Amino acid sequence: MIGHDELRERAVALDAADPLAAYREQFVLEPDVLAYLDGNSLGRLPRRTQERLAEVLRHEWGGRLIRGWSEGWAELPVQVGDEIGALVGAAPGQCVVADSTSVCLAKALHAAVSLVPGRDRLVVSAVDFPTDRYLARRVARDRGLEVVEVQPTDSSGLTAQDVGALLDDHTAVVLLSHVDYRTGSLLDLAEVTAMVHAAGGVVVWDLCHSVGVVPTELDAAGVDLAAGCTYKYLNGGPGAQAFVYAAARHLPVLDQPLPGWWSAEDLFAMADELRPAVDARRLLSGTPSVLGLVAVREGVALAMKAGIDRARTKSELLTSFCIDVLDHLADSGVALEVVTPRDPDRRGSHVTVRLADARGVTDRLIERGVVPDFREPDLLRLGLAPLTTSFVELHDGLVVLGEVLAH
Ligand SMILES: *Cc1c(COP(=O)(O)O)cnc(C)c1O
Repeated sequence: MIGHDELRERAVALDAADPLAAYREQFVLEPDVLAYLDGNSLGRLPRRTQERLAEVLRHEWGGRLIRGWSEGWAELPVQVGDEIGALVGAAPGQCVVADSTSVCLAKALHAAVSLVPGRDRLVVSAVDFPTDRYLARRVARDRGLEVVEVQPTDSSGLTAQDVGALLDDHTAVVLLSHVDYRTGSLLDLAEVTAMVHAAGGVVVWDLCHSVGVVPTELDAAGVDLAAGCTYKYLNGGPGAQAFVYAAARHLPVLDQPLPGWWSAEDLFAMADELRPAVDARRLLSGTPSVLGLVAVREGVALAMKAGIDRARTKSELLTSFCIDVLDHLADSGVALEVVTPRDPDRRGSHVTVRLADARGVTDRLIERGVVPDFREPDLLRLGLAPLTTSFVELHDGLVVLGEVLAH
């Protein structure tokens, strides 16, 4: 069995060898937090975002007022969309930043259903995030489709085989999360996309828990539509707008359910009939929050600078080290079960443990400056953000977890 001290030494060595270690200093580090293990719910605040927002308030909103729209604000949904596109393997013109993930998913689902007339089933994961399941049911009801819920056969999460078993010539749309928000299990996006296409359907990917930490090649994989959060691993801020992607081959005919004046090819045409943009702007509806977009842009800039491949490498090291420490705790007699897949290729950037009284444990951890995430009914989620989580921080947080569980 490996000793406590040995694990701490390993954490120190991993930090010393970490090419992304310096990024942590670019974020606000709260003095009362010993370990922030919830970067997959709300990413930390970049220092530069504080400065940029103050500048925009003073000089742009405060100084330019309405002129700001023609001096750059109006382009932000597309520019920041293209920047996120670069992170997820999408060529320019296919992503915009808008609304919330829930609203973007609703738009994507309706648009997807319209792409496959004559088919009558919408496939969704039975264990997906509530928004995804609620929307799937509602869109299906409104569009005359039947919902098919895929149940995982393995307790750690869905597999491509689980999804494949339910595809047939009734399949219209398949909505899936790339990374399972509870267990952290990862689907092979390219493999599942190809399976859905082989069955004649279209796929909508929810990238909330993978954008910024798991590389995706949306264009190369032939993905139809996708959406995701910017306030998790992209550090865009609480309630930051989401992004939505639609493949260029679909965009000219894409029918979204909430067309507004921002969907138009010419924003100021104010025409009687809407002439939708032929690029991803057609997925916009109304006036975007400029302050929100400014903050998203700073978070995305840090993720781009760090690079998705380096982020993935560190994320795999973080989750592996986390599982080693958890195994050490379990070997010492602490009652916990790791539910996240042990194969790094099959997981995202969080590690989930099943515990008795996970809610009580979460409260006691927070009292001691360790911030994890609780998920009903018995799961503790440890979100590891490659730009901000250090190995020592993770180690020290898990030591507190061991102490709380031992009492
Ligand atoms: C976080 C998350 C959402 C959040 O949706 P919002 O509209 O931003 O609240 C949606 N889907 C998944 C899978 C998530 O993890």
